[in-house]
Amino acid sequence: MTIDEAPRDVLRGGPRELLRWVATGAAVSRADLSRLSGLSPSTVSQRVEALISQGLLEETGAGRSRGGRRPRQLAVPTGGAVVGAIDLGAHHARVGTLDLSGRVVQARTLPVRIEDGPEAVLGALLAEVTTLVDGDPAASADGSAADALRGIGIGIPGPVQHSTGRIVSPSRMPGWNGFDVAAFCAGRVDVPVIVDNDANLMALGAHRTAHSELDHAVYIKAGTGIGSGVISSGRLHRGAQGSAGDISHCRVVADPAPPCTCGNAGCLEAVASGAALVTALRGQGVQVSDLTGVIRLIDDGDRQATALARQAGRAVGEILAVVVNFFNPQVVAIGGRLADCEPLLASMRATLYERCLPLATQTLLIERVAAGQDVGITGAAHLVIDHVVAAA
Ligand SMILES: [Zn+2]
Repeated sequence: MTIDEAPRDVLRGGPRELLRWVATGAAVSRADLSRLSGLSPSTVSQRVEALISQGLLEETGAGRSRGGRRPRQLAVPTGGAVVGAIDLGAHHARVGTLDLSGRVVQARTLPVRIEDGPEAVLGALLAEVTTLVDGDPAASADGSAADALRGIGIGIPGPVQHSTGRIVSPSRMPGWNGFDVAAFCAGRVDVPVIVDNDANLMALGAHRTAHSELDHAVYIKAGTGIGSGVISSGRLHRGAQGSAGDISHCRVVADPAPPCTCGNAGCLEAVASGAALVTALRGQGVQVSDLTGVIRLIDDGDRQATALARQAGRAVGEILAVVVNFFNPQVVAIGGRLADCEPLLASMRATLYERCLPLATQTLLIERVAAGQDVGITGAAHLVIDHVVAAA
C-alpha cells in the first residue's frame, strides 16, 4: 500500500502533525495548535473538526481560561479505536494493539517457525491480533471490537517492495520469496494492512519515541540478520522500491570472506549478523545453538566469541562510516539483540570515528535504541496511524 507522504515542511500543520502534537502533549487546545503550526484559528478548527468526526481526536472538558470562555481541551481517544501491529522475527513475533497516540495497549511475544511458510505464520499472527482486539474492553467500549480496529502494520525480517507489500528475495525465509503479504492479509481482515521491513519499523518507532525533533537519523537493527532504516527530513526514507537502508549485502573487509546466503562472499550479513556469529563459532568448534548462546558467551568474556564480536563491530562501523559520510545524520542508533553486546558496540564506535570526516562526527550522537522490545510494533502502529490520518 502506498502512503502519500509529503516533505516535513509541506506537512507543517497538516492533520498528521496536529494529531502528533496532541498525542505528545505539545498541544492541548486549538489555540496551541494554531501557535505551533502558524495556521489561522479557523483553519486549525476546520482540521480539528475533521479529526474529531473521524474519531481520531476528542474533546475532554474545559482547560484553563485566560479570560473569557474556557477553551475545550483536545486529546487522542484512549478507548474506542486501536491499531494492530506485528513485528515478525526469525524465531519470535511481537504482536500488539496500540491506541491512536502510538501507546501500547496490549502486547505479547509468540514463538514462530518461519519455515512453516507465510500462510501459516501470518494466519496465526492475524488471529492473535483479532484475539487481542476482542479481549480489549476499551476497544469495545463504544461499539463492537471489530469496528475499533483501524488497521494493521506488519514488519517482515526481509526486503519488502513498498508499493506492493510483496517480499523480495529474503534470507533465511524459505517459502516467502515473492509472497504478497498485503494481498494475503486483505483476504482475511477488513482494514488497511501496511507492510514494511523490520529495520524501517524499528527506525520509525525509535524516531517517534526519542529524537523526533531530529530530522536526519540512521538506525541499525542487528539481530539474527542485519539491516538499517533511514529517517531523512523527518520521514522514513524508502527510496524508489523500498530497499533504502538495506546494508546487509554491502561488502566488508574479511579474510577469509565467509560465503553469504545471497551467493556472494564477505557481505556484512555474513560477517556481523547474529546468524554469522553462530556459524563462525561453530566453525571454531564451539558448541553454540543460537544467538542467545553467543550473547551469553560474550557476556562471560569468552575469548573466541569476544574476538568475533569485535570483528563484527568493525565491519558494521566500516559500512556505517560510508553511510555517515554520505548522509550526514544527527544520530546513529543501534538496536536489535546485538545492541547490548559491548565489545561489538565499542569497536563499531571506534571504527566510525576513525573513518568519518570530523565535520560528520563533530556533533553526531551514537547510541543504543532505547525504546525496548516494543519499538517494532510502535513503528508499525505509527505507519498505520499516519495512513489513517492521511485518509481522513
Ligand atoms: Zn550477501
